[in-house]
Amino acid sequence: MHYEPVIGLEIHAELQTQSKMFCACPVVDSTQAEPNIVVCPVCAGMPGVLPVVNQRAVEYGLRVALALQCQVNQRSIFARKNYFYPDLPKGYQISQYEEPLARHGRLLIHTSQGEKLVRIRRVHLEEDTGKLTHFENYTLVDLNRAGVPLLEIVTEPDLRSAEEVRAYAVALRSVLRYLGVNSGDMQKGVMRIEPNISLRPTGSERLGTRTEIKNLNSFRALERAVDYEIQRQSQVLQHGGVVLQETRGWDEGRGVTVAQRSKEAEQDYRYFPEPDLPPLLVEAQWLQSIAAGLPELPAARLQRFQEHYGLSDYTAGVLTVEPAAADYFEAVVRAANGTPLTMIANWISGDLFGLLNQEGLGIEGCPITPQALAGLLRILNAGEINQNTAKIALAEMFSSGQSAETIIAQHGWRQISDRDHIAGLVAGVVDDHPEEVKAYLNGKENLARWLFGQVMRAAKGQANPQVLQAELEQQLNALKAGYE
Ligand code: ADP
Ligand code: ZN
Ligand code: MG
Repeated sequence: MHYEPVIGLEIHAELQTQSKMFCACPVVDSTQAEPNIVVCPVCAGMPGVLPVVNQRAVEYGLRVALALQCQVNQRSIFARKNYFYPDLPKGYQISQYEEPLARHGRLLIHTSQGEKLVRIRRVHLEEDTGKLTHFENYTLVDLNRAGVPLLEIVTEPDLRSAEEVRAYAVALRSVLRYLGVNSGDMQKGVMRIEPNISLRPTGSERLGTRTEIKNLNSFRALERAVDYEIQRQSQVLQHGGVVLQETRGWDEGRGVTVAQRSKEAEQDYRYFPEPDLPPLLVEAQWLQSIAAGLPELPAARLQRFQEHYGLSDYTAGVLTVEPAAADYFEAVVRAANGTPLTMIANWISGDLFGLLNQEGLGIEGCPITPQALAGLLRILNAGEINQNTAKIALAEMFSSGQSAETIIAQHGWRQISDRDHIAGLVAGVVDDHPEEVKAYLNGKENLARWLFGQVMRAAKGQANPQVLQAELEQQLNALKAGYE
């Protein structure tokens, strides 16, 4: 029997606010900060304290909801999700359950199969937990992250392959970064992905039993885990077994998913409305002003890059997925007036991205400014250096931070293409070597190559070889005509 994978994603994104979700503690980089330095009675879960909603976090959540074309609930409710875990000091997490911030959105993804609209089921606000670090016989608790605003974005089960899953996660991260609500720094755990995966006989409408893979924090892990889980479930079904509804973890080293919790062991969270927080009311006027302040989003920018700059689907996609890369491209375009746009796009998406990848740098950390790259491309486009020299110059600009001008001058890489100048050099060489010229005219044709070398020497190796060749041929032909 043939089976079709059915996948829905839950993505948790920390919101880049100044302070936490329900208290005034600052949000710090939890991979850098000293443990437990930003903790107060509210986020430490002391009895008797009162949470206060962070307005900026709500605004950020609304930005995302609007960007995903959701219906925003005018009234949403915070609830207590009760469970015990050492990283959750209150014994419950404040989250939105039955009445989330927003519902029914969508996000367009691009894969090798074309475009697809993925439906968003819900977007809701909650708070992050602390972080546990396990050692052999003890565990350390860091509450810096406890109470950091967290947005959960849940799709309908619309995805059908690991490729689509990845494309969705990439597209969502791109939206979050354009909106400036999340750094997208997945190694730091600020965006965590949980795919829910089931199989069903191809053609069937009914959903199969799903498993959920917890907390993936790289696109590669996501893709591998989804592929593995599809294979695993199809093996189970092919052999007449049943897939158990359970939570699984991804073992990166072994490349397998591992059962963690079965449905029977699933806790009952005993949700109830948070008695210390009133319903969250979103005023229409506020929502409108947030909508009006949304930046150009990745899909719109991609389309503009295709239509306005004439870039291909692929190149426009590569350049617009990160707002900083798109900004970089546009800055080079402004600085390099006259340089062909596809040339600029190809140099950025090809050689420059290659150098950045090698060094593990993002475009924000690029040592070559857009103006400096424009300088190099102008010189290349004017024919003063060739493609190969430009590549070497780019690498040197990258490592030394010097301008193209300086590097090319230092190495004497600039080609002389000026026809009159080269004509003068050729005439000089012809005058200085009457014997050789005579021998050439008498049939020693290979002396032309020797004469070429003399002119190149006179030009200190910088003559444009095509121009030199053409000029030498012309002068020798003229002499030939006069000689015969
Ligand atoms: P929870 O996991 O909290 O119970 P839901 O039941 O709403 O939440 O589902 C979470 C995610 O799992 C959603 O993205 C949804 O689309 C997806 N999902 C639900 N059922 C299935 C299924 N049978 N196969 C694949 N994905 C599913
Ligand atoms: Zn606090
Ligand atoms: Mg779930």
